[in-house]
Amino acid sequence: MTLSERLRFAPSPTGDLHIGGARAALFNWLYARKTGGKFLLRIEDTDRERSTEQALESILDSLRWLGLDWDEDLVRQSERGGLYRDAVKKLLDSGAAYRCFCTVEELEAEREHARREKLDYHYSGKCRHLDDATVSRYINEGRPFTVRFRVPEGVTSFDDLVHGPTSFQNETIGDFIVARADGSPVYLLGVAVDDTDMGITLVMRGDDHIPNTPKQIMIM
Ligand code: GLU
Repeated sequence: MTLSERLRFAPSPTGDLHIGGARAALFNWLYARKTGGKFLLRIEDTDRERSTEQALESILDSLRWLGLDWDEDLVRQSERGGLYRDAVKKLLDSGAAYRCFCTVEELEAEREHARREKLDYHYSGKCRHLDDATVSRYINEGRPFTVRFRVPEGVTSFDDLVHGPTSFQNETIGDFIVARADGSPVYLLGVAVDDTDMGITLVMRGDDHIPNTPKQIMIM
């Protein structure tokens, strides 16, 4: 039995549908229709300050005008907070992620150091090895923390249908944040959780997302 293809278009409703978005939607739709698969629509509206209902309506109108009909119910990230919180907890429990208590000032000092030394900046991993007792103490003291993904050693590869086999040395990717200090998930986590949960079989999106791809694969 061949698995039926499931594709998605995932706009952030922060403005009208732009030409790059329309192009991504069109190719996803064409592929789904050609293969008898599903074309799903996911609204990435976790950024409450920048997302508006008006932009959402405008994007839906534009897709309808283009004749790009979607299958199944619209998925809205703003309604899926529980799923993302569960995922963060799972990452923490398994040790795939850790709490980072570094302050804005500490992180700025790291960035400044990298600028001075003309190095590419990524997080030093300072909180990677905090022992459980220290973490508990910091939590009890009410210190704010973000949650960072513990990037393992090695290489992350994927086969991009346009660019061919693509690899990233993990050491060039710093431990990145998956949840902010207020507990909200970042874009990278939301996409990894949703693409998994929605059973997406092929991700087709702009080249600007290539650097995000190894991070999302690692989270998955
Ligand atoms: N919401 C993202 C954007 O509008 C797209 C995410 C994705 O396709 O993975 O750029």
